[in-house]
Amino acid sequence: MMTTVKQEKQRINQLLSRDAKTDENIDEIYNEAVDRLRSVVNQAFDKYAVDGVLVPANLHKKVTRSDMLLLKRQYEKLPDELELPEIERRDNYLAVSQTSQRGLITATLGMVLILATHKVVSVIKKNNQTAVNDEVHYIQQNNDLSKTQRKRIRTKAKQIKSPNYESKDSSDLSVPWLDRIWLDHDKMRNRIDSTINDQLKQGMRAEDIADKLFPENAEGMRQDNIPKAIRDASVSAKRLARTEAATREDELTEQVFKSKKVRYYDWVTEPGACKKCLAIEAAGPYKFGDPDSPRPPVDSHPNCRCRRVPTEETE
Ligand SMILES: [Zn+2]
Repeated sequence: MMTTVKQEKQRINQLLSRDAKTDENIDEIYNEAVDRLRSVVNQAFDKYAVDGVLVPANLHKKVTRSDMLLLKRQYEKLPDELELPEIERRDNYLAVSQTSQRGLITATLGMVLILATHKVVSVIKKNNQTAVNDEVHYIQQNNDLSKTQRKRIRTKAKQIKSPNYESKDSSDLSVPWLDRIWLDHDKMRNRIDSTINDQLKQGMRAEDIADKLFPENAEGMRQDNIPKAIRDASVSAKRLARTEAATREDELTEQVFKSKKVRYYDWVTEPGACKKCLAIEAAGPYKFGDPDSPRPPVDSHPNCRCRRVPTEETE
């Protein structure tokens, strides 16, 4: 007994609804970050604006203890246990905060982003673990497995669950997801900083914070703005979460195929699959173990939820 196309289609739907919940968690974290960033910008404006306008010249002074309160409020929200990429950035922001009041604002916004990224990393790590546990369960429910085969699956699952696990991607250029998410953090920080600079150069008024830096209809605005920068990081994080889960699930599929000596398999597309995946499906079946035979998502695309199903009698 092995899984059928119908079962795999159902499985894809289950996975998509799990992904939707993960997406919600990630969106919630980033929405909260937007609120925090807005409150930091408002606090800085209230403190440093002169006659209702804030310009770069208002922010050149040396940082005093009272200035530092702005940073301290966000710094204190960081968890005690930080990982290396977080410590690097925190220390960098602390140094930047001492350069001037403008540097202090950058650093404070940076602290907000560290916390958000830290939370998103936790969500993705947990999602990766859940993906493996769920998939092992699914495999055991839907395949006749001997004791040895079960043991092999469990061993494989343990390996994939290790925090150091990195998928064997066909391209050497691929960046591990954790590095990518911190690169996205840096990009987001730079975008936010340059958006604020652009506004300061024109003179920042209270209404500019609401209308230009944090517009309600962020996507419709021609100019870059803070919710837009956060949204891009959110889209990227959701794509990483899904792709990492799918990669781990397919690693377990690979192990089942190996154990059951599968010779051929078909590509099962997700609902509304893209042209590329439909073409892969149409060109099946594929010989198992052939390096030219495609695997989701590494050989299709990030975000791909397609799966593989055995097509022939097993040996
Ligand atoms: Zn696909």
